[in-house]
Amino acid sequence: METIISSPKESSGQKKETGAVQKALSHAGRKELADILRVQQCIIRATHEFMFRKNLVQVMPLLLSPITDPLNHGVIDAAVAYAGQRWSLTKSMIFHKQLALTNPMLEAIYIVSPNVRLELDDRRETGRHLFEFTQVDFEFRDKDMDFVMEFMEELVRFIFVRLNVEMSEELQKLRGSVLPVPGKFRRYRTETLEELYGDQYEMKKSKESIEPFWLINHAREFYDREEPLVPGTYRNYDIIWPDGFGEGLSGAEREYDYEQILKRMKETGTDEKVFAHYLEVVKAGLLPRSAGAGFGVERMTRYVCGLKDVDDATVFSRKPWTAPVF
Ligand code: ASP
Ligand code: MG
Repeated sequence: METIISSPKESSGQKKETGAVQKALSHAGRKELADILRVQQCIIRATHEFMFRKNLVQVMPLLLSPITDPLNHGVIDAAVAYAGQRWSLTKSMIFHKQLALTNPMLEAIYIVSPNVRLELDDRRETGRHLFEFTQVDFEFRDKDMDFVMEFMEELVRFIFVRLNVEMSEELQKLRGSVLPVPGKFRRYRTETLEELYGDQYEMKKSKESIEPFWLINHAREFYDREEPLVPGTYRNYDIIWPDGFGEGLSGAEREYDYEQILKRMKETGTDEKVFAHYLEVVKAGLLPRSAGAGFGVERMTRYVCGLKDVDDATVFSRKPWTAPVF
């Protein structure tokens, strides 16, 4: 089997250091790591329990697929050649979430999914990026953004209350207190904050906030639904963690109209040919109307534990553009 991992400037940015093994072992051997992992495990346990109570069906993740999330913002495409075709490494399960809902007996699903996003080296020091991480991805047939946003707020409260009960000692040690449990999240529009804060509005607002909030309307992937009444704006939403921790979840209502999807593919520079089979489903009117979201597990762990860098939540470092030895 031929294997190709594509990457533009393979060796220029990566520095193999002396003492690399020792460095990797000291990352894995940090004394606070066990507490961080216990907290993270509690996040996952609470998530599974919440999803079960709310009747979402768990679907298993895929790591290879002919199509994956385009993420048109400078993530390197990684692909493997196998059985005479190209298989992308999963950047997110977005299309599989939509396609799984073609089963009429499935109304709501979730996936705990590894995502591979080979970020460029400008994301090395953000403290928020890993080149592989775990996403909790969920999707509902026939629901809208208000439904998903309220569902997620309830999930966050459920997780945080559980953490405060079961992980209070760990939280005391890691962040100095148990978690503030947020009420209803405030909603802001990107264009409003941009006017007030300028270019860096997301981080500035995150830094001055003490509770998570929603950021609505981002120009991004073709599968996020454009506001029919106000073209050029989108029915999508991010959760921004407070205290400067930044983005923690993205989601949207989805496009399902064939012509609209073709238009959005052109606007976002997405290759229609790659999506021929997906477009066949859309054209036949079989792609369900849905809405959903996905949150990064390690980013939630980072916020909850008050960690400097999301990489502090890993046993094996996955900081962008570094050369981990394990
Ligand atoms: N695909 C999005 C992401 O991974 C999440 C979503 O829209 O469901 O960022
Ligand atoms: Mg996002």
